[in-house]
Amino acid sequence: MRYSGFRVIKEALTGHKGWTSAWRDPDPQPHYDIVIVGGGGHGLATAYYLASQFRQHKVAVIEKGWIGGGNVGRNTTIIRSNYLLDGNEPFYEFSLKLWEGLEQDFNYNAMVSQRGILNLIHTDAQRDAYIRRGNAMILNGADAELLDVAQLKREYPFLNYDDARFPIKGGLAQRRGGTVRHDAVAWGYARGADSRGVDILQNCEVTGFRIENGQCLGVETSRGFIGAGKVGVAVAGNSSRVMAMAGMRLPIESHVLQAFVSEGLKPVIPGVITFGAGHFYCSQSDKGGLVFGGDIDGYNSYAQRGNLPVIEDVAEGGMALFPGLGRVRLLRLWGGIMDMSMDGSPIIDRTDIDGLYFNGGWCYGGFKATPASGWCFAHLLATDQPHETATAYRFDRFQRGYMIDEKGMGAQPNLH
Ligand SMILES: Cc1cc2nc3c(=O)[nH]c(=O)nc-3n(C[C@H](O)[C@H](O)[C@H](O)COP(=O)(O)OP(=O)(O)OC[C@H]3O[C@@H](n4cnc5c(N)ncnc54)[C@H](O)[C@@H]3O)c2cc1C
Repeated sequence: MRYSGFRVIKEALTGHKGWTSAWRDPDPQPHYDIVIVGGGGHGLATAYYLASQFRQHKVAVIEKGWIGGGNVGRNTTIIRSNYLLDGNEPFYEFSLKLWEGLEQDFNYNAMVSQRGILNLIHTDAQRDAYIRRGNAMILNGADAELLDVAQLKREYPFLNYDDARFPIKGGLAQRRGGTVRHDAVAWGYARGADSRGVDILQNCEVTGFRIENGQCLGVETSRGFIGAGKVGVAVAGNSSRVMAMAGMRLPIESHVLQAFVSEGLKPVIPGVITFGAGHFYCSQSDKGGLVFGGDIDGYNSYAQRGNLPVIEDVAEGGMALFPGLGRVRLLRLWGGIMDMSMDGSPIIDRTDIDGLYFNGGWCYGGFKATPASGWCFAHLLATDQPHETATAYRFDRFQRGYMIDEKGMGAQPNLH
């Protein structure tokens, strides 16, 4: 079924009896050309682009729970391409360009909203760093704009410019950044992949890999063995656990990141704002809730919930930026499991096991990467060659010491 304004009006006038299921619920086939493990944003996008761009239709996505139940439905929905390093910026700009045409491409309303993102500057040294970053973005074809305090006061009058502990000295804006309705992204990709013949197998947990003579022949699952020509793993926070079943130890740790939503307010924040003197970022959803977050909890965990010290830290960051936030009531909060890589950048690569491919290490920035990650992983699975924007995302960079360390933190995953 093709969705359109005309279809909505027709269904409204005829009692909404004509809508069909957005995707099927098929039984697993004994063998697929390509099996993707993980029905999050990245797994579903990979399947969608395999079918739509690389003519691969005998594809299955295997999800242990329900699609959208992982980080793709738990994140704070920010998209942007404001990176500094050569390994990252072309990839994230490719992703932003894909977001810009995504809804027309997969015929689904994902509420892509380019309301802009603003990184606040609080010191002169930070201004220098952001000028450099902005120039790197522009050199890679992205947009970047340096704002002074007078411009900020006009556009963001509610920030504390008078007596802030960390005075605001300007900001780096990317007007094309913004937010996207996160779970609609999973649903849109699922529907698009399904309509091109991809089987989406929910409630089907991968419990092992069948590997013989260095070749991956398929996956053992809670619904039986499923054979595959190639297996691509995209399980985000569960990466270490799943790849351990294939005997691999990854340069990845799992950490909890929390998100917070306030009660609904009238429109107050025009775009996404990040605090430059601590870790706090905030936007406003279309329902009116302030959506915000901060640092990861800082210890290894597979639990999808966090703890009070980080809640306090996030509240402090928010109050330092918007004193008015203290009057707002918190509605809900939750946690997701982050696949934190050693240098803070992702991996899209083959493994030493023939037929087994890996996509992960997205840390807390993988939502914005969803379209490019899916496209590049599909490219690798279909052609056995990396996509031109993802050539740096290889396992061997950790052996060669060629880190893509945006933050300059060194090999300490809990600080990226
Ligand atoms: C609180 C929070 C805020 C965030 N904010 C942002 C943001 O603003 N911007 C941004 O770019 N990124 C953000 N992120 C990060 C982003 O959400 C993730 O990097 C990204 O969603 C990970 O990729 P995914 O969607 O494929 O993961 P997931 O949706 O987690 O998909 C992985 C899937 O694999 C499945 N799986 C695991 N093990 C198995 C198995 N054995 N068998 C079968 N299936 C399995 C899981 O059930 C899960 O559905 C945030 C994350 C969190 C938690």
